[in-house]
Amino acid sequence: MITATGSSRQPITPNTAGPSERDLPVHAESGTCARPIHTAGFPGQPAAVPIRSQRSCLDPATTTQTSGISDPRAASPRVADVPGPGLALPDWRQGLREAVTDPRELLELLQLPQLAARLPAADAGFPLRVPRAFIRRMRQGDARDPLLLQVLPQSAELDVTPGFSDDAVGDLGAIKAHGVIHKYQGRALLIAAGSCAVNCRYCFRRHFPYAEEIAAAHAWREAIDCLAEDDSIREVILSGGDPLVLSTQKLTDLTQALRALPHVVRLRIHSRLPVVLPERIDATLCAWLANLPLQRVVVLHANHPNELDASVGAACARLRDAGATLLNQSVLLRGINDDAEALSGLSERLFEFGVLPYYLHQLDRVRGAAHFGVPDARAREILDQLRHRLPGYLVPRLVREVPGEPAKRPV
Ligand code: SF4
Repeated sequence: MITATGSSRQPITPNTAGPSERDLPVHAESGTCARPIHTAGFPGQPAAVPIRSQRSCLDPATTTQTSGISDPRAASPRVADVPGPGLALPDWRQGLREAVTDPRELLELLQLPQLAARLPAADAGFPLRVPRAFIRRMRQGDARDPLLLQVLPQSAELDVTPGFSDDAVGDLGAIKAHGVIHKYQGRALLIAAGSCAVNCRYCFRRHFPYAEEIAAAHAWREAIDCLAEDDSIREVILSGGDPLVLSTQKLTDLTQALRALPHVVRLRIHSRLPVVLPERIDATLCAWLANLPLQRVVVLHANHPNELDASVGAACARLRDAGATLLNQSVLLRGINDDAEALSGLSERLFEFGVLPYYLHQLDRVRGAAHFGVPDARAREILDQLRHRLPGYLVPRLVREVPGEPAKRPV
C-alpha cells in the first residue's frame, strides 16, 4: 500500500458549505445556475462536452438521510466544483499523499469521535485509506453515511465466517505469469499495481499477495512475454490495486510494448480513481489515452450516487473526450446501496456523466467482508424494482463470480 506522507492534517469543513468547492480551483464566475458547466479541455483535443449543471448531491438542501439522492430537476450549479477551460487541476499525487490513513482522524473530520470506541483493535492487515476529496462527499455527523461505511474498519471484519476465504474468486489458481491472471477467453488481466487510492473494506483482493504479483515490476517484461505467447488474447485488462496510481509514464511503457502484439486490440482499465480522486484524469493521462492505437474502455467503480459529484462528472467528460467508452461496476452492499432508491439514483447519475451501469456484483466471499452480504432473494427483489423504475440500459447485470467458471454467473 502507498504510505501517506506530507501534511495530512488540513481541516475539512462541514459539507453544508458546499464541500467540493475545496476540491478544485474556484471558478471566478458566479450566479450561473442555469448555464451548462464546460469541463476543462486539453490542447489538441476535441472541445470538452458540456455537462448540465446540477446541485451537488452533498448539499443538505437536496439530500435525504436515507439515500442522499438529489432531485435532478432542482438543478443548481456549483460552478466552483469544476475547473473551467484553462484552469489547472490539483496535483493528483498530492491527493494520494494526503489521503487519511488514521480512522480516528477520519472520525474527527466527520464530527463522529464517539465512534472511535467501536473501532477494531487491529486493522486485519488492511489499513484505512481514503482521499480527502472522497471524505468531503460524506455527511457530517452521520454514522450511517454510505461512503463512510465503505471505508471505515469495523470489528465485524475480524469475525470468522464459513465459506469466506482469502482468495474469494480463485485469482491465485489463474496466475499465468507474475501479475498476469487469465480466467476468461480472449481477455487477460494484469495486476498492474499493488495499491489503491482508497481501501474498500469489501475488496475481494484485500488479502492478495501484491508484493509477489505486480505486472509493472521489471518494466512489464514478464507480462508482455506471457501475452505474446497467446494470440487468442484480444483484450488486456489493467486492474490491481488500481492501475491509475501508476505514473502515466509507466502506463506508456506498457502500451508501447503492447504495440508489438497485433492480436491485442483493446485496453480496459478498471479504476476507482476517477471517482475518489478525479484530478488523476489530467491532461497527461488523457493525451496518453487519446493517442493509443487501441480501443479503450474505462470501467469505473461507484456504489452510491453520493460518490458522484460534479468533479467526477468533469473527469468522466475528460475520459470521453479522450475516446474512452465508460462503464461502471458496483458491489451490492448491505446498509450502503441495498435498495432500489440508491441504485436507481446511481444509474441516473452515471448516465448523466456518460457512463453505463454494467455489473452489479454480489459480494465476493472474502474473509472480513461477510457483514456486507445481501441475500440473493433480496438482491433479485431489488433488481425487479430497478427494472420497473428504469429503462433497460440503466439496469446493471446482477452477477456473481464463481471460481473456475468461464464467465460471471447471472444471479
Ligand atoms: S479500489 Fe478496487 S481494488 Fe482497490 S480496494 Fe477498492 S475494490 Fe479493492
